[in-house]
Amino acid sequence: MSVTPIRLFGDPVLRTPAEPVVDFDAELRRLVGDLTDTMLDAPGAGLAAPQLGVSLRVFTYDVDDEIGHLINPVLDLSDEMQEGDEGCLSVPDLAFNTRRSMRVVAKGMNMHGEPVVLEGSELLARCIQHETDHLDGIMFVDRLDAETRKEAMKAIREAEWFGQPPAQVKLSPHRISSRW
Ligand code: ZN
Repeated sequence: MSVTPIRLFGDPVLRTPAEPVVDFDAELRRLVGDLTDTMLDAPGAGLAAPQLGVSLRVFTYDVDDEIGHLINPVLDLSDEMQEGDEGCLSVPDLAFNTRRSMRVVAKGMNMHGEPVVLEGSELLARCIQHETDHLDGIMFVDRLDAETRKEAMKAIREAEWFGQPPAQVKLSPHRISSRW
């Protein structure tokens, strides 16, 4: 398990619909571990596999002191809605009022391939909707009303992190000296 760099808005993997998990193997358990470690380190209320560059339908959450994960989620949303600020680890330091369903029933699997049902309201419901959107290549800014979205896109374009190339692995001194 390890803390892994989080992909930022503008990375194509965040716009790619993720594939359903079919192999409930050691690699999947490692992915759930990496997601959990990275989410706790950030810290964040949730993290989806595409944010680590892995296009699989897996997310983790940490809401109201409950840490968990869900695989291949299918959501049933309430008609009742909630308002509130929402942010995203792939859109650092920005938050905007985002309308979401008040309650959600999410059916899916755990990392052992057993069926699980995750029910939540308010913050957990918001988190489940946000993370499941990531699995469909949807960012929370897509959910904003037109005016707020314009404001959000402007803030993103002006953000220091936007458009920066990902951190490069440095050439070792040995490699440099051997070339020159
Ligand atoms: Zn997010």
